Amino acid sequence: MTTKSQRIQQLVEEGQTFFSAPHEYQYLFVCARTLWRRERRLSRRKNTDRWPALRSVKATNTKGKPIDFGVQIQKALRDHLAQLQKNRCCYCRRWLQNIAYARPVEHVLSRDEYPRFSLHYWNLAAACHDCNHRKSSHPWGTWHKHGYPSPRCIKDFFHPRFHDYDAHIRYVRVETNTISVAVYLGLSPQGRQLCRDLLGFISKVDALVHNNPRMSNAITKIQGYGGKNENRVATQRVDEFLDALNGAVYRLALKR
Ligand SMILES: [Zn+2]
Repeated sequence: MTTKSQRIQQLVEEGQTFFSAPHEYQYLFVCARTLWRRERRLSRRKNTDRWPALRSVKATNTKGKPIDFGVQIQKALRDHLAQLQKNRCCYCRRWLQNIAYARPVEHVLSRDEYPRFSLHYWNLAAACHDCNHRKSSHPWGTWHKHGYPSPRCIKDFFHPRFHDYDAHIRYVRVETNTISVAVYLGLSPQGRQLCRDLLGFISKVDALVHNNPRMSNAITKIQGYGGKNENRVATQRVDEFLDALNGAVYRLALKR
């Protein structure tokens, strides 16, 4: 098990790895770092959510052609976080699919409640769509001070960048050709909070979708289509459709 100071050291090194190459094009690495720092400073000072502002930044490539600079920085971050997590969701540990829609960047302390942490590197993780969506509508921890909490301060909720998953949650996932069942068990107060507020719900969603092969295949196909067309109107329509479909599944999962 890693100690808290080792974990901090690890987080610092992980941040250095990302900020050494926060963009697809090498000639834009420095610009991407500068832009991130500027936006993070703004978000902290003015207590505003700068995640959308970062996303909308444009630049030009070496041939003078416009590129979605901010989108590409966020994509590089998503790839980096997914790699750190061995391509599994930070909460439910299911595999992440290789498309933006299915593996959004998760803000552990939410952007709505804690806009000043919207670009804090420690606050970011890669989650599956189900966990990210469910968590966004659920209260998650409390923190009243201005600066970002350190690992030792977080006792009432699970923080995927700070906590060692295996020390807090044990899970069993059984998958056959036709069924999928997952059971999660909290081993600590933080693990029990995660099971109570999120993972119990995820088990139900999983069972509803994955035990219905036709629905499961259709969703995989639709998500694949969305992934090929990132940033286009078609993707937006696909996202809207998937949101509506997920909404129906969630309503079913919430029925007792
Ligand atoms: Zn998940």
